Parts: sequence; structure tokens; C-alpha cells
Amino acid sequence: MLSNLNTPQREAVKYLDGPLLVLAGAGSGKTRVITRKIAYLVRECDFDARHIAAITFTNKAAREMRERVGELLDGKQAKGMTISTFHSLGLAILRQEARALGYKPQFSVLDAADAAGILAEIIKTTDKQVLRRAAGRISNWKNALLTPAGAEQAAEDEADAQVARAYHSYQATLKAYQAMDFDDLIRLPVDLFRSEADVLTRWQGRLRYLLVDEYQDTNGAQYELMKLLAGPMGRFTAVGDDDQAIYAWRGADVENLRRLGEDYPNLKLIPLTQNYRSSRRILDAANRVIRHNSRLHDKNLWSELGHGDPIQTVECKDDRHEAETVAVRIDAHRFQVRGRYADYAVLYRGNHQARVIEEAFRAAKIPYLLSGGQSFFDRAEIKDITAYLRLIANPDDDPAFIRAATTPRRGIGPSTLERLGHYAAERHVSLFAAMFEEGAKAALAAKQLHPLLEFGEFINRLAFRAEREAAGTVLDEMLGAIRYETWLYDSEDERAARGKWENVREFVDWLTRKGEEEGKSLVELSQTVALMSLLEGRSEDEVDAVRLSTLHAAKGLEFPHVFLVGVEEEILPHRECLEGSRLEEERRLMYVGITRAQRSLTLTWCKRRKRGQEWLPCDPSRFLAELDDGDVKRAGDTLAPEAAKAAGKRRLADLKAMLGG
Ligand code: ATP
Ligand code: MG
Repeated sequence: MLSNLNTPQREAVKYLDGPLLVLAGAGSGKTRVITRKIAYLVRECDFDARHIAAITFTNKAAREMRERVGELLDGKQAKGMTISTFHSLGLAILRQEARALGYKPQFSVLDAADAAGILAEIIKTTDKQVLRRAAGRISNWKNALLTPAGAEQAAEDEADAQVARAYHSYQATLKAYQAMDFDDLIRLPVDLFRSEADVLTRWQGRLRYLLVDEYQDTNGAQYELMKLLAGPMGRFTAVGDDDQAIYAWRGADVENLRRLGEDYPNLKLIPLTQNYRSSRRILDAANRVIRHNSRLHDKNLWSELGHGDPIQTVECKDDRHEAETVAVRIDAHRFQVRGRYADYAVLYRGNHQARVIEEAFRAAKIPYLLSGGQSFFDRAEIKDITAYLRLIANPDDDPAFIRAATTPRRGIGPSTLERLGHYAAERHVSLFAAMFEEGAKAALAAKQLHPLLEFGEFINRLAFRAEREAAGTVLDEMLGAIRYETWLYDSEDERAARGKWENVREFVDWLTRKGEEEGKSLVELSQTVALMSLLEGRSEDEVDAVRLSTLHAAKGLEFPHVFLVGVEEEILPHRECLEGSRLEEERRLMYVGITRAQRSLTLTWCKRRKRGQEWLPCDPSRFLAELDDGDVKRAGDTLAPEAAKAAGKRRLADLKAMLGG
């Protein structure tokens, strides 16, 4: 447990006398400190695993950490340990304490799209910009732990006050649906702990030691939750890097680093300075870039790994050329070193940049995995199935009711739903409850009521079984009963239908497995699903494929070879963030990108880019100049598409020769 740790790392693992903050640069082993410390607590300090909670930034990171810890502890020792995101932890707390907050334990968790749908109806707008701004504002209020009333008081002008009133209706609607949005998963536990001392004490007894990774990106509400759980003694280890704070736009606040020192005067600070991830040229480039920010202190990261390959920059004609260049280079390099696709990552600032790269990879037959993009869970077919699951768990979830009742079509049309909705609103009950009431008979025609009741009874039967039988069995029967596959083939062309059905099967298999492994019922699983969509998707560990990821989603990860694309002014830094603190956040994003690389780093930029119908000239990012110490290798148009094709053919010939064909 203490082997392969340097002196300060070992000190951090063993330190238990009070609150601890490990503040250190990228690749210095912060995450390693957390995994080792978990094992240390269990094996050396006789902690029961159930009393330990480790908090990571993404579900993917949680999964990785669970695997690491699994290598250090046997199954029995690790049993009952909490390794999750703040959101999953909040959900676990709320599931047990829902009643105290006026919720049923089977409340629904809405994803961002469903939440936006509810808000759109309240502020009566279809303008995406307006909607996004209002949603963002409400989210910020929630993360600052403001109630609707508090928000109205804090509102800066009349427009803001209007949003605050929308926040009020939005919250009331969520409550009526017995639903929560992502921010509620943090805010409500905090509310609860602040008002119910005995509940807090119980949870403090349950989780006796907290370990928090990527602490620099916690927001106000998350910090408060951590503080409450850790108690006045501050039983926690937090690790983070202020140079990697990249979530200010979502309410994260680096100020929380400073507050930690104020709130815990006995906070112990341990710096780490040796980087174990990157070769020296990469590390030096990262250090040079981040030095342009105004920072509290220089971390002076150093590395014992060799100099490594020079960093390369490639100037490309346009984004298609850029994508093809990356494809060719990856293919050629992989062939040269007989490596794996999984050793390569292509990172970019915005999701929209992925499309051309995907196209080029498909053309070049390079397998790839997309993360941080449109999530698997945002697909229509997955949301259809999820609507059923939500409804089974929580019949008051009206948005889920509408989606499930009408997909596949079963004779419940808009006019039926409108009348039912009207009646339900008058009676202050959910759609589901309304149709079983006597009055519904008067409000609806018999041929409207009949399919509704049939649907309602179907859901009731499923709900009954979902609590008693294995998730997989119930799911399979449900899919059969609603004839989802047939409906897909009836309403889409064959290829699309097949693709969607495969996704549904994969989803169902995944749920089935999860149900078996974690001993969870379908009802419990349905709540996890909404959370899974929050930051990432499925398990992808064993697949040999190039990783395509946004810079944000790549945080905490490492890859032998990294391609950073679109390193241009107005992309990275983003055109809305060219000044002040926002520019500094972009620079930190660049720093995160560079420091993902272990052995090689290639940065590409385009001379022109299409915006709408127009070609616009682009400039290389200022960050390229900042990282350049004269040692950076520049490649021009050396690999034009024609040359690339020729190279491809040659490779194929080589390969055939090698195989003796
Ligand atoms: P980031 O800031 O990017 O999250 P980090 O500080 O969490 O980085 P880790 O991911 O924990 O860094 O470690 C980076 C790499 O260095 C990992 O591959 C890890 O296994 C390795 N490493 C960490 N500490 C040591 C050590 N003492 N000896 C050898 N390898 C180490
Ligand atoms: Mg880390």
C-alpha cells in the first residue's frame, strides 16, 4: 500500500490527525494518494469499508477508482464502500431520507433535457438562448444554496426577478412530479442536514472518512455537503489543483480552496511536485503555458522521465484536412510502434468538433470511442425505455407518463392527454392518479379512457413485479409487451431501426448485469440511469479504440499519445472567453489538455474554417506561442490527402507481405 509512493505521498496517505489538502499539479499522483489511502484505512487502521466515502468527478473516474481499490483490497474488505460522484452520493442520501423532504423514496431524477422542457413551459419560450440562460441562472442559484425566495431577493434587475419567479414555479412543478433535477441532488441533502441535526449525526456516523478528488471543481453546494458530512473535526482528505479548475461556468468556485483554509484553521497542506505521467518536454510546455496565468504559486513540477519526443504542431488547410491528418498520423504511428488504438486520444474544445473527426476515422476504418459527447443516454430510444422505468418507480412523473403512454402509440392521443391533463390540474393530482379517479370517466370519452386504463394497469403490474423479480426478467417482458422492436421497424428505415434496437438491447443487458452485480431492483436502477447521463456513458475500458473526448471530459485521465485539435484563436481560447478570468480558465483547459499526454503530444490548427456558409481565416492559438520554446517541431502540409492514401496503400501491401499473402 505504501510501496511506489514518494515521501510526501506517503505522508498524505498516513496523515489522519485532521483535515488534509493535497494541492499539486497534474500527474503528480493525487488520485493515487486517494486510492492508496482508502486501502490504508481499511488494512492498517481497521476502518470498515462502509465508513469510507471517496468522491470523484465523473462516474467513469469512480469506476476506475473502484478498480484500483479492488486491486488493493479483497472483495470482503471493500464491501459497502462508497466510491461515487457528489451527485450519486446525494442520490443515495435522498433515497433514504426522501420522506423528510416531502418526497417519496422513488422520486424521479430528471436529466437536463427534461428539466429544460419543464422550464420552457413555465417561461413560455422556444428561444433556446433565453431558455439556456434561465436554466443556467437557476442552476447557479441552486449551487449557491439559494431558495426561490432568496433568489428573488438577490435578483439584480426585473428580468432577473422574473427568472427567480420562474425558479419558484419550476421547483413547485418538480415537486408535483415527485422529481428532482441534478442540482437538487446536492442542494436537498444540504437543506436536510442543516435542518435535521439527528439526520446529519446519523450520516456522519455512517461516513466517517471522506476523500475528495478534483476538489478545485467543487461548487458551493458540494463544498457545503462535504463540510457537513466531514463534521467540525474535518475528517477528510481533499486533493486538487487550482491550475486545473475548469468548471467555473458550471458554478464551481476555486475560492473553495481558500475557504477550506479559513473553515479549518488546522488544515494540513501537502504539496507534491514530482510528475510521473509525462515526458519532460510535455511537462515543460505545460508549465510554460500555465505560467501566463496569475497564480497563487508556481508548482514547479518536474519529471524523471526522459525528454521524450519533441512536441509537434501541424498547420492544416481546414478542419477536414485536420481530421484526415490526425487519422493518417495515428494509423501510421500505431503501425510503426505496433501499438494499440486505445493508446491515442484526440481532444477538442467543443463537442461540435467531433463530427469531422468521426467521419475521417470511419473513412480510415479507425475504431473510436466518443466520450463527453451526445451521451448514449440522450438517445431517443434509450429515453423511451427510461421513461417506462421512471414511471414504474414513480407514477407521478408526468413527463415520463406522457412519453411512455405515447411511445409506442397505443391509442392515447394529444386530445386525450389534454383532457386528462386539464382534469389532473384541477384536482392537483398527477396524470397517472387522475385516470383512476371516478371523475375521469366524466371528463373523458369511453374510447379515450379505455386505452389509458389499460396502460395504467400495465404499469401497475410491472411496478409490482419490479420490486420482486430480477431486473432483467421484468425488462425483457416489458419490451415484449410494448412491442418496441416491431414499432421501431415500423416507424424507421431498417438500418436506423436496427441500430436503435441494438442500443436498446445493450442498455437492457447493461441494466440486467448491473442489477445482478449490485443486487438492485429495477426501481433502484431507474434512478441511477438518469445520473449516468450526467457526465459520461458506458463501460469502455476493454475496447481497443481511439478516444475522442472534449477537454472537459478528459480531466484526470492520461493517454500515451495525445492529439489536441483546433488549437486556434476563438476555439481555444473560445471566442466568448478572450479576456480576464475567462481567458485564464481557457488557459487552464489548455493545461489540462497538454498534461493528459504521457509520451507524445501533437497540436493541430486550421488556416480556415467554415462558419455558416462562409470560409473564415483562423489564427493559431496564442497558447501555441506560449508553449513554444523553440524546440517545437512544426509540420506543414507534409501529409496531403493524396500522399496519405498512397501511404495507406503501401501499408496494406506491407501488411499483406508480413502475413505472407
Ligand atoms: P491529475 O491532476 O491529472 O488528476 P494526478 O495528480 O491525479 O493527475 P495520478 O493520476 O494519480 O496523478 O498519477 C499520474 C500517473 O503517475 C499515474 O499513472 C500514476 O500511476 C503514476 N504515479 C503516481 N505516483 C507515482 C509514484 N510514486 N511512482 C510511480 N508512479 C506514480
Ligand atoms: Mg487525478
